[in-house]
Formats: sequence, structure tokens, C-alpha cells
Amino acid sequence: MPTEKRRILVVGAGVTGLLSAVRCALAGHHVTVLDRDAIPNPGSTSFDQHRAVRALDTHDLAASRRIAVAHRRWMGLEALTGSKFYRRVGMITAWPEDDVDAVMSAAAAADLPVRLIEPDSVPHVRFPDGTVGVLERHGGILLADHALQVLVRWLTEQPNVALRPWQEVKAVDPGTGRVYLPDAESLDADLTLVATGPWSKDLVDIPMVLHRQTLVYLKPPEQLATAWERTPGVGRIGTSGQAWLLPPGDGTLLKVSSAVACREAHMVTAGTPDEERQWAEQVLSEQIVSEPHRYTVMAVKRCHYLVDAQTGNSHLVRIGPSTWARTASGGDGFRTAPLVAERILEALTTDFREESI
Ligand SMILES: Cc1cc2nc3c(=O)[nH]c(=O)nc-3n(C[C@H](O)[C@H](O)[C@H](O)COP(=O)(O)OP(=O)(O)OC[C@H]3O[C@@H](n4cnc5c(N)ncnc54)[C@H](O)[C@@H]3O)c2cc1C
Repeated sequence: MPTEKRRILVVGAGVTGLLSAVRCALAGHHVTVLDRDAIPNPGSTSFDQHRAVRALDTHDLAASRRIAVAHRRWMGLEALTGSKFYRRVGMITAWPEDDVDAVMSAAAAADLPVRLIEPDSVPHVRFPDGTVGVLERHGGILLADHALQVLVRWLTEQPNVALRPWQEVKAVDPGTGRVYLPDAESLDADLTLVATGPWSKDLVDIPMVLHRQTLVYLKPPEQLATAWERTPGVGRIGTSGQAWLLPPGDGTLLKVSSAVACREAHMVTAGTPDEERQWAEQVLSEQIVSEPHRYTVMAVKRCHYLVDAQTGNSHLVRIGPSTWARTASGGDGFRTAPLVAERILEALTTDFREESI
């Protein structure tokens, strides 16, 4: 326990805010989490059946090693809460045969255990012609909404944590970290973290680009249920080579999407069923699974995320002496959330400015 207990204010109770709250609470600090909706919020980006954790980035081995640490942190959170929400089924990426040697070398250099997967061994998944799967054995699927519920339950039990749902933050003063609520209420803290996901443009003035994506949830045929339960997540598939799937299991549906259904947007909106159906058709035309006619479309959902306008990546930015913003959390916000939480805790004692996490 630190000798000095600090007050931490977290705006936004998605995965970023909740994990940061857990980390700071474990260190003995006083944490207040504000969300304008329920906590957890079913309308947050984080509240979905599943999110993938994979580490290998062949262009950035340092990032690969960092994410491998985050993978272990998620296991630590399971141990802390005594709950299971991380299906360590592995993650496959389909690579052109000519690239496989280089990918295997990169994995070895990053100390990531991988192995080759012949497409024939996963016949219910359609690999692009001429590709081979590389399985990251330590990757897997987080049962995201379940994880959020478990983390909220744990936080509720901590005497040094206050969860305040239905509190819409109207403004944050970066200079002081002061947070303004309706009815002239304001809150002060030793450190303020703005983690309001794709709605961050309302509170933080940093150039960011909003992305919108359509997700399709499928029910596989009964005969394939057992095979799917054992199937890893798979990326870089489909006719474009930019599609991916997260397998069903533990009560979840099969989820598919593709970068072809990712587009820039001006604001977070619900969209019309017709509009989403068209995007869903585009995703399904990617031929991600074999025998697609045997699958039933159960739901279509849109989802948003922000990226840094200059780099296209995510970031954790210090926007004032003691005010931080995880505004651009990109398409990696779940796997990187444990790293953000660690940096926020370190920020209480260390002087640094900006992190690409
Ligand atoms: C289609 C898609 C697929 C993805 N797949 C993956 C994946 O496989 N792996 C992975 O690691 N990541 C993935 N991501 C990214 C990841 O889901 C997000 O980065 C992450 O969930 C963002 O979490 P967050 O806590 O930052 O924001 P959110 O979960 O959006 O939470 C923000 C919270 O802030 C609250 N809020 C907003 N404004 C205010 C305000 N003014 N006052 C108070 N509260 C406010 C909201 O109510 C909300 O609860 C994906 C994202 C998308 C869109």
C-alpha cells in the first residue's frame, strides 16, 4: 500500500475506465468512476459478447511483447475476481504462404509461442487460397460484457471505490482535472482520466477520427457446435483478406466482420436497420465460413472507435498536469486496457507525457 492515498477520477466506465479503477483501487487509492449511463453501460463500445486478444504485430515486436504482458494481466484479473471470462482458445492469422517464414521468425523474436495451422484442419473456416494459418497459442477471446460485469461487481465491494452511474460529465478542465457535472456540481482529484471511448470528442480537444464498423452475429448449425467450441479466433480471411471471426462458445454467437465494413463517421449514431443490413450483406459476401447457407443471422450491430488523426493509432495522452485522456482507443482497446491501467497508476508518481499504447 502506498503511504499517500490519492483521489482518482475516472470518466467513462468502459473497459479502459474500469481496469484503471481496479488497478488504482488495488494500490489503495480512492477511486470515483462516473458514467452517464448504467455501470456497466450496455451501450458502451466495450459491452459486446467478445473481443479478441492477440499479440503478434510483425512490424512492431516491442508492441507484441507489451501485448503479451497484457494477456497475462487479463489472466490475473480472472484470478483476482475468481471468475472465468477469458477463453484462451488461441488466435489464428491467415498469411500468404510466402510470408510465413518471416512471420514465424518475428514471433520467435518476440517470444510468442506460435504454430502453423493447415486450413484443412479447420474446414468450417474459409481461408483465402494460398494462405496458411499461424496460431498464437496465447491469444484468445475475452467474454467482454461478462468481464465488465465481473469487474463492476469487484469494484462495488471495495471500500475505496465509488461508482456513480447516470452522471453525465459536461466538461473537464485539463489544467486542474476538475470535472463538471450538471447542476453546477464539480469534482476534483489528484488524477483525472477521461476514458469516454468514441464520445471523447465531446470532452477532449485532440484531433481524432471516428470509425464505424458493422458486426454480424451468426448461429452455426447444431452439427458444428462442438467444432466451433474448439475453434480459435481467425483474422485476415474472406475474399478481401481483411475479414475476421470470433468463434462462438460459452453461450456466445459466432461474430464476423471485415475492414471493408469499416468507414469514417462524423458522430456516434444508431443508424437505420436498412443501412446496417446493407453493410451486413457486404460482410457476409466475404465468404468467411464454409457453407454459409447453414448459418442463421441472429443480429447486426454497429460499433464505433476513435483513432489519432495523425498516426491512425491509439494513444494515452496527458492533456494537463494531472489529466489524462485515453480518447483514441482504436480497435485494440481491450487488449491494451491493462497497459493503460498500469500507466495511469505510474502517472501518479512518474512524469511522462504521451504513450502510444
Ligand atoms: C467493431 C469493433 C471491434 C473491436 N474488436 C476489438 C478486439 O477484438 N480486441 C480489442 O482489444 N479491441 C477491440 N475493439 C476496440 C475496443 O472494443 C474499444 O477500444 C474499447 O471497448 C473502448 O473502451 P473504452 O472504455 O475506452 O470506451 P467505451 O467502452 O466506449 O466506454 C466509454 C464510456 O464512457 C461513457 N461516457 C461517454 N461520454 C460520457 C460523458 N460525457 N460523461 C460520462 N460518461 C460518458 C459512456 O457511457 C461509456 O460507458 C473493437 C472495437 C470495435 C468498434
